[in-house]
Amino acid sequence: MDEDDTYAGTDHTAEDDGDPTDGSVDAEEDVDGTPSDRDTGLTGTTDQDLDSNPSTHPDSESTTDFDLDLDEVVLEDTGESKGLFDDLLSGEPIFENKEVLRPSYTPHELPHREQINNMATILVTALRGETPSNILIYGKTGTGKTASAKFVSQELESTSQKYEVPCEVRYINCEVTDTQYRVLAQLANKFIEKNEAVIDDRLDRLRDLRTRATDDPEALASTEFESMEALDDRIDSLESDREEIETVPMTGWPTDRVYSTFFDAVDYHERVVVIMLDEIDKLVEKSGDDTLYNLSRMNSELDNSRVSIMGISNDLKFTDFLDPRVKSSLGEEEIVFPPYDATQLRDILQHRADVAFKAGALTEDVIPLCAAFAAQEHGDARRALDLLRTAGELAERGQADTVEEQHVRQAQEKIELDRVVEVVRTLPTQSKLVLYAIILLESNGVHNINTGEVFNIYKRLCQEIDADVLTQRRVTDLISELDMLGIVNAVVVSKGRYGRTKEISISVPIDETEAVLLSDSRLSDIENVQPFVQARFDN
Ligand code: ADP
Ligand code: MG
Repeated sequence: MDEDDTYAGTDHTAEDDGDPTDGSVDAEEDVDGTPSDRDTGLTGTTDQDLDSNPSTHPDSESTTDFDLDLDEVVLEDTGESKGLFDDLLSGEPIFENKEVLRPSYTPHELPHREQINNMATILVTALRGETPSNILIYGKTGTGKTASAKFVSQELESTSQKYEVPCEVRYINCEVTDTQYRVLAQLANKFIEKNEAVIDDRLDRLRDLRTRATDDPEALASTEFESMEALDDRIDSLESDREEIETVPMTGWPTDRVYSTFFDAVDYHERVVVIMLDEIDKLVEKSGDDTLYNLSRMNSELDNSRVSIMGISNDLKFTDFLDPRVKSSLGEEEIVFPPYDATQLRDILQHRADVAFKAGALTEDVIPLCAAFAAQEHGDARRALDLLRTAGELAERGQADTVEEQHVRQAQEKIELDRVVEVVRTLPTQSKLVLYAIILLESNGVHNINTGEVFNIYKRLCQEIDADVLTQRRVTDLISELDMLGIVNAVVVSKGRYGRTKEISISVPIDETEAVLLSDSRLSDIENVQPFVQARFDN
């Protein structure tokens, strides 16, 4: 597998996972001027990355010329007045290599994931030239699915090169590549690229042979070619193959043409192909199961090659939406990635921290506390690493010499707030209006808010900004959704003979949430509605 394939996420977003909290796009630039990875750590939106070590960007080619380790730079005190960066530079840096804490880094060791052995046991078939069973991998976000899949695919490809067995792995992140057209086009073009290289290589060798045979006809003796004509025919046919190759444009072709181009490209020569579809639930959600249906029935029609599919899903129930044939084909083998517990998270963090931080930069509570917080967050290793990195950044920004418990607590708050901001920002307008109604009630001192009250305010807000007014039943549904997102808390209380009602309260910081709502241009006029709403409480 080639680099840009496995690590599609280095400069694109393919690395990012489907975690809904991952939405913040970070346009930060590292000191060396190369755009840094999109920061999937929730810290992105407001972060100014004061990375004190600009030389640590592992994938950046352009850093080599400027490969400057700040530790080696002697900061001469020239007695001149201090500049903008002097103070920041004078502190002891906390990080040794922050990149290993970023989501884009693929670790070479994955403790507590013996599921990797299960994957290998199934995929080793490919190295024997046979078709491995299709595999479905399930697990919540941050349980190491993507990291394990990439690790296994690297191992598989390097072993296949070692033993010279034709086996290839293609990794696709379906959150980014989320339609049948794009999945097939991306696959087709990768295989086409490989095929072109194979043809060019053969042509080179044949032309070379031809030159030798022109001088010395004996040169053909030990080859498959009986005559110069036979050799010329082969060269001609390869050249015309080469010319006929057409890459798939990113839009515009009918899907069956894309499919047949992909099919021909895969079948061009003998090989076993493992197609990894990460975030496969996103693909099915967005574009149905046609892609999976087409891929899973390919083997019966391929002459030279064999295809095996590995689907990875955060959603345990996504197969419910699949055609039964696709479901049984895809789920030949199923592997579950359970959440990590606090002890396992501690181990994972320790491994990474040893590389990421300067010796002695972490006080002893830091890792256990990050692990404990992340264990509460369904055992999410990504959250654990984000916490550790953010805590380090906060310590660095505060010019502390060590990362301490308080930094972890601040990091937890910051990440949680960033998550809320992101969730609120991306709500549909109607939900934003409902949420704003709840905020207005609460900030006007109303307690035990019920659905009727929310609906009344919501209605007036809608009129004020000329939005459609939904029915009270729909508004009740939207309130339940906000509840599920953890933005409001709605408990059903019994009112005796008056039936049951919901009591609603806000469970996120009101001021920040309000600010995010009002930053939406469609809602910005609403601010002026305040006095009018106030009037309602007066009567
Ligand atoms: P998923 O794909 O299940 O959402 P990832 O594979 O992206 O999770 O893992 C999230 C983060 O945690 C990544 O940075 C990954 O490197 C790290 N990680 C997960 N499991 C392990 C492990 N067992 N050892 C080391 N790092 C891990
Ligand atoms: Mg993933």
